[in-house]
Amino acid sequence: MKNTQDIWNLKPLFDSKESLQNAMQSAITKAQDFEKKYKGNLNALNAESFYQSLKEYEALCEKLSRIMTYAFLCFASNTKEGAFYAECEMEVNKAQDFLLFFDLEFNALERAKQQEFIESAKGYAYYLELLQKHAKYQLSLQEEKVLLKTQPVGVDSFKRLFDEHLSNLRFLITLKGANKEVSEEEVLSLLYDKDREVRKMAQESLSKTLAQNLPLLTYIYNVVRKDLKITVELRGYESLEQSRHIANQTTQKSVDMMVDTINKNVGIVEEYYTLKAQLLGYDCLYDYDRYAPIANDEADFSYMESKSIVLEAFAEFSPKFYEIAKRAFDEGWIDSHPRENKRGGAFSHSAVPSVHPYLMLNHTNRRRDAFTMAHELGHTIHQYLSYSVGYLNADTPLTTAETASVFAEMLLFEKMQQRLNDKEKIALYAGKLEDVFATLFRQNVFTNFERLVHKKDGELSTEMLNALWQEENQKMFGKSVILTENYRLWWSYIPHFIHTPFYCYAYSYGQLLVFALFGVYRKQREDFVAKYEKFLSLGGSKTPKELVGIFGLDLESSDFWEIGMQEVRILLEGLKEIIKRV
Ligand SMILES: [Zn+2]
Repeated sequence: MKNTQDIWNLKPLFDSKESLQNAMQSAITKAQDFEKKYKGNLNALNAESFYQSLKEYEALCEKLSRIMTYAFLCFASNTKEGAFYAECEMEVNKAQDFLLFFDLEFNALERAKQQEFIESAKGYAYYLELLQKHAKYQLSLQEEKVLLKTQPVGVDSFKRLFDEHLSNLRFLITLKGANKEVSEEEVLSLLYDKDREVRKMAQESLSKTLAQNLPLLTYIYNVVRKDLKITVELRGYESLEQSRHIANQTTQKSVDMMVDTINKNVGIVEEYYTLKAQLLGYDCLYDYDRYAPIANDEADFSYMESKSIVLEAFAEFSPKFYEIAKRAFDEGWIDSHPRENKRGGAFSHSAVPSVHPYLMLNHTNRRRDAFTMAHELGHTIHQYLSYSVGYLNADTPLTTAETASVFAEMLLFEKMQQRLNDKEKIALYAGKLEDVFATLFRQNVFTNFERLVHKKDGELSTEMLNALWQEENQKMFGKSVILTENYRLWWSYIPHFIHTPFYCYAYSYGQLLVFALFGVYRKQREDFVAKYEKFLSLGGSKTPKELVGIFGLDLESSDFWEIGMQEVRILLEGLKEIIKRV
């Protein structure tokens, strides 16, 4: 098959950079007019004119987003366009300045007035309620100003110190007898090497440099802990985690149920790694063996092959999924291959409801790339369907953002099996399980660790942090993996702990939620698809709890999370079956 390439057609956004410039000038003028018309007046509006203002606000936001989408996509496809992107950003900021008052002024309205507006703003209730929820923890304008002004020299400066310090660290490695200093990213990638000696060397190298930097890294973590406590106290949050739950549009109870369910099922991890030791022919696994590849000579997987298998998998699931994905290929929504100056990685950009999403891939003919294609097309489908609720409502929180992407990967996983022999299947299953462990169990260990770390009073010593980290990890691996003394220090390079405390649970939450839905699909295929499409098309206009309610299930009950866990078990049992046959 010919390996054709796809490339973006950006014309639906703008004909040219000139037409973008014209749109920009008009947007700035319109934003200025909007401010003149409404600033200081919201309180005097009746419900109908408020609704009108909201419509105008949304249209303006969408206009600006269209400009930034175009600029971003230009930059992603050619990183030499950085100056153009920065210029657009600066101009768009000017317009955004005029719009800034709108949310703030709504938040400052009296509760009764807000309620009146919410009740009459059809389709925007949820958006406005979210604003209201955030407003509850806002301080006075004067206090917020002080916080904003001092932010760059507060905890943010320690976050930056962490980033800059880690990116400047060099790790001494020895490969084929030669010594070399490499970055954190490079030394971490060696943990996936097929040679055990290389993995062990990388583990020692990472640990050695981290050990030298532990006093500073411990200090920074303690600052972050203190800052979280102060923020909770000042803003009146009910718990250390609450601000994350609000951002994720979820509840403490739901998160607790999810964490409990995962903690109860860590035996799956232990069972898998015991199996992995056998597959690798080792007596026991050490922490540096966790990512050892399962031997597999993978055949090439061309772009056209990927496209055909992904479309086939989607078609079998839902005509709508197929249609949207097909359009993506046919109508220039995709930029498919790596080239000079193009950004690495993959993403689906939601763009604006009046156009369509844009999807970037960097296909290199590996089987993994087919899964990336399915994943990103899943995002595309989700974004496209959620256009129906409008620009302000379309955005999903982290907890449901991966609903369609991970689901699409599962559809491909099922389809892919039909094409592989048993030996290839072992690698496929092992790869899938390890991916799931990385988002589900590993992130859950992070959450358990964070809960303990933030609960403690006073400053924590390095030794204390090491001990908590090691203990929580060992609980997950059980007897299957020996965690060495070196591993004790490995909490210290995880950026999420520093940047956004309690961020990590959203990964496990999203993953397990999708697995639960997939489990429901496995049991009752017929009426599932229509409900699922409804779920996706509601975007961010309802809470995850309401969305899952479409299936008659409850996010706050452990029964729901158990369905997802059952799916992980099915994967493990599947792997065991294949191993028995080989
Ligand atoms: Zn994704």
